[in-house]
Amino acid sequence: MNAMIDYVQSPSSAPRAEALVDLAAVRHNIAVLRAAAPRAELMAVVKADGYGHGAVPVAEAALVAGASWLGVCTLEEAAELRGAGITAPLLSWLHLPDDDFTEAVATDVDLSVASRAHLAAVTAGARRAGRPARVHLKTDTGLSRGGAQPAAWDALLDDVEKAAADGHVEVVAVWSHLANADVPDHPSLEVQAARLTAAWEAACARGFTPIRHLANAAATLTRPDLHFDLVRPGIAVYGLDPLGRRPAGTPLRPAMTLRGRVALVKRVPAGEGVSYGHEWTTPCETTLALVPVGYADGVPRLLGGRLRVLLGGALRPVVGRVSMDQVVVDCEDGTDVREGDTAVFFGPGDHGEPTAQDWADELGTIHYEIVTGVHSRRVTRSYTGIAE
Ligand SMILES: *Cc1c(COP(=O)(O)O)cnc(C)c1O
Repeated sequence: MNAMIDYVQSPSSAPRAEALVDLAAVRHNIAVLRAAAPRAELMAVVKADGYGHGAVPVAEAALVAGASWLGVCTLEEAAELRGAGITAPLLSWLHLPDDDFTEAVATDVDLSVASRAHLAAVTAGARRAGRPARVHLKTDTGLSRGGAQPAAWDALLDDVEKAAADGHVEVVAVWSHLANADVPDHPSLEVQAARLTAAWEAACARGFTPIRHLANAAATLTRPDLHFDLVRPGIAVYGLDPLGRRPAGTPLRPAMTLRGRVALVKRVPAGEGVSYGHEWTTPCETTLALVPVGYADGVPRLLGGRLRVLLGGALRPVVGRVSMDQVVVDCEDGTDVREGDTAVFFGPGDHGEPTAQDWADELGTIHYEIVTGVHSRRVTRSYTGIAE
């Protein structure tokens, strides 16, 4: 595949709506993260279908580039990676107590355990699989989402000790998740680290020898003192800065480009309302281009009237409301825009196109929500920068 992204004109076979993922950028970002955490193992987080980029291709690229672990949220996500033949260490962390862990244990998926009920379910899976489950004991150090509260830790360890003695579990890690890592000097970070260490010491006192992990992407890049034995970056793998800095201001490279092809170009007279609700009216005769990418494809409807796309070598405004299936672009005199041309919605920003960060800023949200929102089956996901 061509490693260069052609932003100007796609071949005529290009899809109508496409999320183009640059796997060379993923490998580059892994190298950046490796360099930021040279002494820790690197777990690439590929939950939510690789943050909308495709879990399997991203996982494979990350492993090639130096990640040694993968992280996912659900057993289904873990099974997808194992089903693709990926054998790297893999942690899955958000389950229901009535999930069936048999296949996960049988396929060597590490499991987070945060309560006695979850431990019992994992132990049952281990019995059925006929081998011990590898568990990461999760302690709630201050996020108050998953994890066992400090007051419940000893009781959990009692059960873990028994399950370990019975050969049903191996304790691989004690871990937790940060609440304010995107504010690198936030005082809660030290508090959470100290609580993690206290929980880890209690496990060590029982004779276990777990590793410790705490850092997401933000802490991987900004807080080396919180790396412990393994770091768990997600968003930075995809080239988006966890602190919300502009792409140009970081060594990361955004991996996703969302683009669509012009389905129709036409001249429209002055004074005509455009798209539902007629929120925009042609001020003069103009050329409008219709691009079949809408809110069902990951373009937030709230961006109506505030969105620009790179089309025919210029940034041009999307006018009127974003529809479910399409947007209308004002191309003024229409020179340089033809049916079949490619409109770039967001990308790395190298060619002046908007970035996922721009969209997030405009909407008052974070770029995580922008890229994970590109998950429609109607958007063709394709890859560039595939390793030899
Ligand atoms: C999503 C997630 C991560 C990665 O977070 P980023 O902010 O994307 O780096 C790490 N750990 C856990 C438990 C997560 O849920």
